[in-house]
Amino acid sequence: MKRILKRSTLILAFTILFIGGASFFCVELVLNADDWANQPYNAHISGNGGLEQAGAVYDRNGAALAKTQGTDRVYNENYSVRVGLLHTVGDNSLNISTAVQSKYRSQLTGYSLIWGLNMPQSLRTSHDITLTVDANASAATYDALSAYGKQGACVVYNYKTGEVISSVSTYSYDPEAPPEINESNEHEYEGVYLDHVLSSTYTPGSIFKLVTAAAAIENIPDLFERTWYCEGHEDIGGAEVRCVDGEAHGTLDFYGALEHSCNIVFAELAVELGPEKMTAAAEKMGINLSYEIDDVSTAKGHYDVSKASTNELAWSGVGQYNDEVNPMQMAILCGAIANGGNSVNPTYIKSGTGDLLKMIGLNDTKSRELLKSSTASTLSQSMPSYSFGSLSVRAKTGTAEVGEEKNPNAWMVGFSTDEDCPLAFACVVEDAGFGSQYARPVAETAMQSAAQALRGY
Ligand SMILES: [Zn+2]
Repeated sequence: MKRILKRSTLILAFTILFIGGASFFCVELVLNADDWANQPYNAHISGNGGLEQAGAVYDRNGAALAKTQGTDRVYNENYSVRVGLLHTVGDNSLNISTAVQSKYRSQLTGYSLIWGLNMPQSLRTSHDITLTVDANASAATYDALSAYGKQGACVVYNYKTGEVISSVSTYSYDPEAPPEINESNEHEYEGVYLDHVLSSTYTPGSIFKLVTAAAAIENIPDLFERTWYCEGHEDIGGAEVRCVDGEAHGTLDFYGALEHSCNIVFAELAVELGPEKMTAAAEKMGINLSYEIDDVSTAKGHYDVSKASTNELAWSGVGQYNDEVNPMQMAILCGAIANGGNSVNPTYIKSGTGDLLKMIGLNDTKSRELLKSSTASTLSQSMPSYSFGSLSVRAKTGTAEVGEEKNPNAWMVGFSTDEDCPLAFACVVEDAGFGSQYARPVAETAMQSAAQALRGY
């Protein structure tokens, strides 16, 4: 009797295990089969990286960025469009994991649980995806940025609708002829599979003064009545803080301090505000936040002065110390400054299958208050103004020191104040020099070509 009971228990245990395992497999199959089928090691089942049955990828005006022709996957006929949008569109591999052809491979190929990848043509519906980006604006931006032969990133987006108009990351390569990367050429392709717009962080330098400025506007009542005197260098907390090249800016008010990007003024402000208020401002403005762009999480920036000395706190206020920011997050922050303090979450997807739209929650306009409305308006009016052709722009440049062996990161971030072109941007060139010299021409090209895309002239 005892033995039978023991056996029954054993059989019951095995049955439960089996049913459990089988159920787990079935659930996994339903949830993840498309991912399995679209793994790169399955690419051989169809060739062309599994994309030869895939739908097309279009830009905002219907220009084909990637499509299937016969059994080939072909990319836009214009070299600069192909290379400039590589990180947004992707190539036949899954090497750029954040690109559309990697992320939405199963939507593009129309994987079905019943048919696998071999759904009969007669049952196929459209699996095309239309992006928000403009091919010409992205190509022009790529040409401007890549001319330096440096790594960098530049993004322009509509801060009212969230539509990304151009998005470029260097280094890049031609998806029609992906390079064989080996020891002899790897320096030319360093970081090439990363979309620096979404996935990289950089030392911000003076563009971070927007955060310190916002904290000062909110917390220092007599800010606009004050003046400062800059000798080009000053002892703060027992060590020196210098302006770029030790330049003495003389007597400055708050506008002048932003205009001349005086390190002394912003270093003093950071120390006066203290670590709590500086951290609160950085947190609210999204510096330590990762944004969900479609279904990619942006690289988080970094502001942490919990262990900083007084001198380090001073440097943190001018975007040095251990500060880090991501280009997309800076574009979002500038969009929020222009938009009364509220950010609209960017998207690269204009339209696609219902399935895809449901997945990325396109209609869910995620908005976040990054600044109080009054702070946004005061900060916006305090930022230096520029003319990019016919566009009126408020912007901040940055020249971020990154150590002895490399030139500074050149930055420019900002937004247009023209009603018909609600565009915000962030551009960075690594290992370059002055933001005004290296990042500004790229930003100007990016903004003017994006404005052309919106205005149609
Ligand atoms: Zn100065």
